[in-house]
Amino acid sequence: MTSEPKTLAIVGAGAKAVAIAAKAAELRAMGVDAPDVIAVERSGVAANWQSGGGWTDGNHRLGTGPEKDVGFPYRSSLVPRRNGELDERMTRHSWQAYLIATGQFAEWIDRGRPAPTHRRWSQYLRWVADDIGMPVVQGEVERISVSTDDGAERWSLHTAETTVHADGVVITGPGQAERSVLPGNPRVMSIAQFWHHAASHERISAERVAVIGGGETAASMLNELFRHRVSTITVISPSVTLFTRGESFFENTLFSDPTGWTSLTLSERRDALARTDRGVFSARVQDALLADDRIRHLRGRVAHAVARDGRIRLTLSTNTAGEAVETVHGFDLVIDGSGADSLWFLPLFDQDALDVLELGMGGPLSGELLQESIGYDLAVTGVHPKLFLPGLSGLTQGPGFPNLSCLGMLSDRVLGSDLTAAQPVASFARSRLDEETR
Ligand SMILES: Cc1cc2nc3c(=O)[nH]c(=O)nc-3n(C[C@H](O)[C@H](O)[C@H](O)COP(=O)(O)OP(=O)(O)OC[C@H]3O[C@@H](n4cnc5c(N)ncnc54)[C@H](O)[C@@H]3O)c2cc1C
Repeated sequence: MTSEPKTLAIVGAGAKAVAIAAKAAELRAMGVDAPDVIAVERSGVAANWQSGGGWTDGNHRLGTGPEKDVGFPYRSSLVPRRNGELDERMTRHSWQAYLIATGQFAEWIDRGRPAPTHRRWSQYLRWVADDIGMPVVQGEVERISVSTDDGAERWSLHTAETTVHADGVVITGPGQAERSVLPGNPRVMSIAQFWHHAASHERISAERVAVIGGGETAASMLNELFRHRVSTITVISPSVTLFTRGESFFENTLFSDPTGWTSLTLSERRDALARTDRGVFSARVQDALLADDRIRHLRGRVAHAVARDGRIRLTLSTNTAGEAVETVHGFDLVIDGSGADSLWFLPLFDQDALDVLELGMGGPLSGELLQESIGYDLAVTGVHPKLFLPGLSGLTQGPGFPNLSCLGMLSDRVLGSDLTAAQPVASFARSRLDEETR
């Protein structure tokens, strides 16, 4: 007798949701149990890769290769003796399969396999979602609570129109592109406002422009800003300088194959992440930066912003030789890229749901503790019902999980998780202790 399938709800119908839903569909087609996967999406499938989603105008190009698609790296380990069959089935949802099905394969090869635009990437993800009939509930998740159903605790995802109940929840996406240090000031743009300008072909004209934030979000915006009439562009980030992401075989394998990751100490992992991931620009963007003498880097965190005398004054705080130093800098236009926030979902949790998190983790909620608590299945260890946070799983599980680098492995980890299992707090505390004493 087979038990009732569990429900796995995913906040956001983006790349991760499509990857998980595709693998669940193939497992079911093989007669293997898999949870019912439901995505709750405020806009449309793969919205963040199109103009209007707030993160791009759709014309910029993917940084990672499109072959790192929803099945990559095609090394499933979910069904003993049938993993080859599962991988073969997943190739039907590959980037190449999409190109073949839509008559674009030969041209892509002949053009030297170019990185697709974000828009084309969104079309690929939609093609997969349509092909598998991915269930999508339309609506913005505004609140997450816990409810008890037949004695079992479940998550409840509330939108304005409906409530989705689930045995496990996966949080996806980079955050809120609408955030800004000075909302409503015409000299300060959020990420979404910047891309709205770019998509409507409005030329930005300003002397001194600041871009707050590093990483892929800022990199895409810089790529776009080059085309506008600006005299200087200052990138503000807390890092010592603007690092280039290493893209050699060895660095790439850290992303595609996290097998050896957990044998590193936490400080080794932090070091590897700092070199390869956070606040780091791809070699392609760095080449453009080097060639353009308008770009400067300023180290610091924005502590304060104020509009004065037709300019925006930013107070930056830096830690110099152990001392906090504050400096003030004036700009004609500030583009606030800090909306990309891996903890963006926390304000959605009501007090009871936050209590479930704190009780499960055995300590007060913090970004640091959440990151350190992510287990093999990419869920927060000790927390029940299961809460999967792939965006925070880089530190404990491998740098490829928060992004597009190993979506096929991400789906394995999430779908391989036991949605009924509650891990006792004591065993979690022990695993943290082991980690600290290593
Ligand atoms: C401009 C840009 C370029 C990038 N390029 C790369 C790259 O080349 N390679 C790479 O590996 N990574 C890249 N990244 C990182 C990228 O965010 C992740 O790799 C990838 O998008 C993660 O997929 P996801 O499913 O988590 O999120 P997404 O694909 O961003 O999907 C999130 C979805 O959630 C929805 N949503 C958000 N909030 C709610 C809510 N409250 N309720 C309901 N729905 C909601 C959104 O509408 C969206 O559809 C890039 C990021 C940005 C911003």
